[in-house]
Parts: sequence; C-alpha cells; structure tokens
Amino acid sequence: MSNQNELFKKLISHCKEYGFIFQSSEIYDSLAATYDYGPFGVELKNNIKHYWWKSMVDMNENIVGLDSSVLMHPKVWEASGHVDAFNDPLIDNKDSKKRYRADQLIEDHINKIQLKIDKDILKAEMKFGSNFNKKKYCETNKRVSERISKIQEIKDKLDSSLKKNKLSDIKNLIENLEIKCPISGTKNWTDVRQFNLMFKTNFGSTDESASEGYLRPETAQGIFVNFLNVQKTARAKIPFGIAQIGKAFRNEIVARQFIFRMREFEQMEMQFFVRPGEEINYYNFWKDQRLKWHLNLGFDNDMFRFHNHQNLAHYANAAVDIEYKFPFGFKELEGIHSRTDFDLKSHQQYSKRKIQYFDSELNKSYIPHVIETSIGLDRMFLAIMCNSYKEEVMNDNEKRIVLSIPPFLAPIKLAILPLTRKDGLSDKAKKIFNDLKLEFNCYYEEKDSIGKRYRRQDAIGTPFCLTIDHQTLEDETCTLRYRDKMNQKRLKIKEVFEIIDKEVNLKNFII
Ligand code: ATP
Repeated sequence: MSNQNELFKKLISHCKEYGFIFQSSEIYDSLAATYDYGPFGVELKNNIKHYWWKSMVDMNENIVGLDSSVLMHPKVWEASGHVDAFNDPLIDNKDSKKRYRADQLIEDHINKIQLKIDKDILKAEMKFGSNFNKKKYCETNKRVSERISKIQEIKDKLDSSLKKNKLSDIKNLIENLEIKCPISGTKNWTDVRQFNLMFKTNFGSTDESASEGYLRPETAQGIFVNFLNVQKTARAKIPFGIAQIGKAFRNEIVARQFIFRMREFEQMEMQFFVRPGEEINYYNFWKDQRLKWHLNLGFDNDMFRFHNHQNLAHYANAAVDIEYKFPFGFKELEGIHSRTDFDLKSHQQYSKRKIQYFDSELNKSYIPHVIETSIGLDRMFLAIMCNSYKEEVMNDNEKRIVLSIPPFLAPIKLAILPLTRKDGLSDKAKKIFNDLKLEFNCYYEEKDSIGKRYRRQDAIGTPFCLTIDHQTLEDETCTLRYRDKMNQKRLKIKEVFEIIDKEVNLKNFII
C-alpha cells in the first residue's frame, strides 16, 4: 500500500475516532456513500460555510443569498437537461460483479501512467539537482515523452467518445488499454451503458394520486427558477449574483473515497448574471477569485491546479475545475462554468414565462448569461482535513497527531483546562470559559493529565489551550499553549481575548 493510501486510511479512522465523520446508519451496517458529521465535524463544516458565505455574499454588495427547496417541479429537470443528459457511463466486470464508471476506469489508467512519469522526473531531479530543466527533460527523454503522448492520445479518444455518446468506443478503449478489474483481475467486461444519476421520488399521499419527481442533483436550478423573484425583490442590477448552500443528491454509480463522492452531499454555488458577450471576462475574474479563496487558507500553491474542460457540458461555453491534490491524486474540488443563457432560456421555454432582464443603461431586454462557481462543501472539508492531518514525533520521542486546521476554521478555538479539579481551579477555569464562550467556540475539560488533554486538543485541531494553575489564583495569569509549535506563554487572563481574537476572527482573513 502506498504511503498516501495508508495516510488516507488513517485519516478516515481519525475522523471517526475524534467525532468528525461517522458512516450513516452504522448500527445497521451502514448505508453506502452517505455520512454523518459528528460534534467536531459539524463545527468545521459550519465554519467552512461561514467562510464561503461571508466572502461570496457579505463581501460583495452585488451578490445576494437564497435558500431554495430540494423538491422542485419535475419540469425543472426536463428544462435543465438533467432528465435526458445527467448520465454516467457504467460498465460491470462479469467475474467480480463490480460496477464501475467507465470513464473513471480510463482516468485511473491515465493516473497510473502519470505516476510513472512523476517517478522518472523525481529521479532525474535528484540526479541533476539545480541544473534540472523539467520541461526539457520531458521533451527529450524518450520514455517520458512517449508516455506523455500516450496520455494525450487516451484523453482525446475518451473525450471524443463521450462527446459523441459512442459507448461502444469507450468499451473498445478499455479493451485496447487492457484495463483489468481491480477486484477480479480479469478483462471480462459488459457493454457500457448510460445511467441517470437522479434520485426519483413520489409526491402525493396515495399511490394512485402520486406523481414522480426528483431530489435535486444540484442547487443551481433553484437559483435559475427564482431569477425574477430575486432580481426584483433585491432590486439587483446586472452584473449580480445569487448564492446558496444546500443539499444535492446523486445516485453515484461508484461511491468510493470517503466523503469525496457521496450520494447526498452539500454544494455551495453562486450564479453570476452578466450581459451577453461579457461572460468570458467574468469567467476569468471568478476563476482567479476562487483560486485566491482557496490559497487564502495557507495551502501550498502546488496543491491546486486548473483543469480546463475539453468535453464541455451541453450548457457551457467554457469550463474549468479547480483540482486539489488529494491523497488519491488531483481531483475536482470546484467547478467554474460559463453556462451561457442556456438555463434561463430553457426555463423560459418550458415555463412559458418571460424570463428577461431590462437593462436600463442599454435600454433593452435580454436573457443574461451566467457564470457559475460550484464547490462541494464535503470535498472542501476533505481537502482541509487532508491538508491538516500530520503525524509528528516530538522532542521526547513521543508521537502526536495534530490537525493544523487554519485557526479561523478550527472547530474549537480555545480549550480551557484547569491543572487539577481541586483548590478552586475548576471554578476559576469555568469563569473564564463562561466569559469567553460567546466570543469564540471554547471547550472546557478537566479530566486526565494535562499532557493527554493537550494531545486530544491537537487531534481535533484546537489552535489554543489555556491552562489554569495555582499561580492563576494569585496573580490572574495563565498559560497559553500554541498548537502548531507547542510553545507556551504566561500572560494575564485579560490579555487572552485579544491574542486569540486576532488569530481566529474571520475578519482578519476574509478576502
Ligand atoms: P465529478 O466529475 O467528480 O463527478 P461533477 O463535475 O459532476 O464532479 P459538478 O456537477 O460540477 O461536479 O458539481 C459541483 C461540485 O459539487 C463539484 O466540484 C464537487 O465538489 C461537488 N460534488 C459533485 N458530486 C459530488 C458527490 N457525489 N459527492 C460530493 N461532492 C460532489
């Protein structure tokens, strides 16, 4: 097992052990691809939402919020194209009876070739040191350049088959690449079929009167069908955006990789409405803006990359993914799409209502074009956890697990720990806890040795611990311990608020 795989497994058990994420319905042996967020998970999730909402809605005077329903009129999904086209190509292995997304089998194959390329590059880098020219090496090393061309050839074939919906070509590609089922190890594949990802449900009280509907597979359509309501009531002028955070449901064929791919998940989406012809400028603006939002968390630049879509969805004229380097490779974290006027136009046609905007500067009405930024809240949660999880060996050779979550997102900001329960230390610590608990999320704990309590707070990512000891009773001082460097500082109780507030208040980090 690779180091990254092993690390990912450890992270998954850490999430369970420390109350971040549990499998749904665990006591009934769980329900695949659905997860529940525990006491610290829900805090982190709320903080991510808050960070997104503040920077998208509150910091932009031309963006407003919305909370639309999960259940919508079935016609919405005809108009949006989801009934006809929200499909994934699936394939089964006849021996293992396991089901896969055919395009992902091919992408996994590409990733394996890429890993070999990366290995060769790393070796050469170590050999040539500072003289190493990566670009030149990739162009001139025969083995590496052949592999790069091979990847491009596979990608082109896959994109073209997906675009033309030629399922037999996808199967041929799997066979020609000799892709084996990871479980059975055989190449005994069924034909490729399309599978619609929407969850069907019934509305109405009796079987006879019930009609079929869907759980929304994206939050975006709730924004489009409310375009006129919001524009009028918010007195919004183009360019303006509508943002919402909410659940989405997709009957994913293969739901692996923990919370990366779930059947019920949350999206944070913003649709930005612009004049026709101005969409590409705004597309580029939001592409930059969204990357800045991620980098603002202090992650390395190398952990992100843009991936331009070659195979555009039916509604888009430009699309890019912001990919994050998860332990299982670079994968989509957020999509930025120029959705043209497809959605509003289509809803106008299906609903037979005029959905247009009167632009008083141009003195004409038109259907606005839309730039969408769409990020999975759960994937963002996972990216933060992957980036923060560290196993460290300390000076005394003891190990600690620490989550170096950016302090303003940490579930708990300050743990207040009396050294012992005796001599009035608990009362003093509780008083400090009560004074600060409304300022930021505090945690009070008096059980176990102070060392054990520090370890527990490290493991849930608490950036600060405050220890109350006998000296506190004499001179109103306490010890502040910092999570990342584990350094400690003696200070007056009254100084605590200002120091911590500076480090955890979103106000100081928002972009
Ligand atoms: P993928 O190619 O990984 O299936 P997608 O292109 O279908 O993703 P979008 O429709 O663009 O995803 O959805 C926007 C965002 O919603 C994605 O960038 C991702 O962060 C999140 N997302 C999509 N599907 C899931 C899922 N099944 N589980 C968790 N998050 C998801």
